Amino acid sequence: MREKFRRFMTGRYGSDGLNQFLSICALVLLAISLLLRSSLVSWLGIAVLGVCYWRMLSRNISRRTEENYRFYNLQQRVQNKFAGLKSQWQGRKYYRYYRCPQCRQKLRVPRGRGRIQISCPRCGTQFIKKS
Ligand SMILES: [Zn+2]
Repeated sequence: MREKFRRFMTGRYGSDGLNQFLSICALVLLAISLLLRSSLVSWLGIAVLGVCYWRMLSRNISRRTEENYRFYNLQQRVQNKFAGLKSQWQGRKYYRYYRCPQCRQKLRVPRGRGRIQISCPRCGTQFIKKS
């Protein structure tokens, strides 16, 4: 049986980070559908599980690898965003955060200095804010 399964999976993509993420999503959706007794959510969960299995059995390995790579990139961006928000929250006592009106660069200024002129280090735009 094991051998048969191994032979069946030869040349197929198998599991990766994106699939692990998708199967967790599917489980969460199915759990929610049980709680809400919603057939729509359970179909969604089954669909996600279906995509997960389809990717696992896919023979187009380069395409699946690329998808996984894009998934990791996105995951990294989301993690960076949360890390940024966390440090902003931790520093809220001492700093104020503004965005440059020109280039949207996020800027950090010390609190309690009254009205100050801020100049953006990226594009050089100057603007006045209360700190
Ligand atoms: Zn700027």
